[in-house]
Amino acid sequence: MEAVEDIVIVGAGIAGLTTALGLHRLGIRSLVLESFDGLRTTGFAFATWTNAWQALDAVGIGESLRQRHNQLFGLQTVSTISGISTAERQFDATGKRQDHEIRCVQRRALLETLANELPSGTIRYSSKVVSIEESSHLKLVHLADGSILKAKVLIGCDGVNSAVAKWLGFRKPAFAGRSAFRGCVYYDHGHSFEPKFLQFFGEGVRYGVIPCDDKTIYWFFTFSSSSKNGEMEESPDKMKQFVLGKLGKIPDNVRAVIEKTELDNFTMSPLRFRPPWEILRGNISKNNVCIAGDALHPMTPDLGQGGCSALEDGIVLARCLGKALRDNQSIKSEEEYKRIEMGLQRYAKERRWRAFELISTAYMVGYMQQSNGKVLTFLRDRVLASFLAGKLLKMASFDCGKLSAS
Ligand SMILES: Cc1cc2nc3c(=O)[nH]c(=O)nc-3n(C[C@H](O)[C@H](O)[C@H](O)COP(=O)(O)OP(=O)(O)OC[C@H]3O[C@@H](n4cnc5c(N)ncnc54)[C@H](O)[C@@H]3O)c2cc1C
Repeated sequence: MEAVEDIVIVGAGIAGLTTALGLHRLGIRSLVLESFDGLRTTGFAFATWTNAWQALDAVGIGESLRQRHNQLFGLQTVSTISGISTAERQFDATGKRQDHEIRCVQRRALLETLANELPSGTIRYSSKVVSIEESSHLKLVHLADGSILKAKVLIGCDGVNSAVAKWLGFRKPAFAGRSAFRGCVYYDHGHSFEPKFLQFFGEGVRYGVIPCDDKTIYWFFTFSSSSKNGEMEESPDKMKQFVLGKLGKIPDNVRAVIEKTELDNFTMSPLRFRPPWEILRGNISKNNVCIAGDALHPMTPDLGQGGCSALEDGIVLARCLGKALRDNQSIKSEEEYKRIEMGLQRYAKERRWRAFELISTAYMVGYMQQSNGKVLTFLRDRVLASFLAGKLLKMASFDCGKLSAS
């Protein structure tokens, strides 16, 4: 049995590291347990919207990431059936915090930047949490290697298959009937893409191509899938052929992105989400335990907001815990446990409706964007394209606030 830890965070992903760094900025120590033997960067990169930059600034790493990722100045959607552009939005190009700020951030860069700002020893790798037990106010956290940690506060940032969410009573997230491929291409001598988020909708597929910097292009491709598609997971070559066969009418340079992607740089993920009514009914926090990021609100990736909202969670959670521990940095008395419980309840209250809205909007947008039906395809390409593009920007217009409430 090891010593008692004040705050244990499960998972060194976007949510876990942001929460740990937010707490560190407020002078509060935490321990992050990560099952993998290093930082896990599945998915290469992700669209990072205005709300995420506000959170990154709040935790003090926005500038460093801005320097490595180009700002995008437009969002364009194209029908792969007609090859025609169906909607185009320009973002304000005047720079930081003017109107919208959108970049495509490499996951490794984000996770490393977060991790490097933490005091050494904060992250404990190869530490998979297998079960949780109650012992009075403490939580006993059982690890796969047989060791047990005692935690005064337990935060589950352990992703879509969260053990902590299960302990809180949440069901396994539902399969959306869709899967995604993601990939990344590096151009030694620079690529020729404009700084724009290009989205393509076609017969039952949706995909996008986004520049991260002058040399790196990230792409994603979502499609309706069944158990039969599972065999592709084992074969990047089959994944590549499948994607190439479904691209439709698109510019040659977009097709070339997929053709140029090395087989090692393909990844496939089934898309899962938490039915939004479970968010309204469920325990986001209970006593001294809570969840954040995908553990709380797994959603389909149609708004590109899963990671961005995990950043928001981290800031709000650190702020609520920081307030609860304001005068005393360690948790000793009964009164402090009460304050922690109330702090986590405040966090749950702040995040519940935001999570509900994100999950439901993402599902609705994905349903329309990926529809194969004649009527919806017609409406999407002729009438709804601009509305859908607007939804992405609307959901990104959210300010999670600063770390400190004062
Ligand atoms: C196809 C696709 C495209 C996407 N595009 C975007 C996008 O453009 N923009 C965006 O914002 N979001 C996007 N997302 C969503 C985004 O990837 C996730 O929402 C985000 O990674 C969630 O971060 P997290 O920290 O909550 O979870 P994760 O990134 O899953 O991190 C969880 C961590 O916990 C660890 N862990 C798990 N279980 C345990 C355990 N029992 N013990 C210890 N450690 C554990 C894992 O190893 C992992 O490191 C996309 C998702 C998909 C599938």
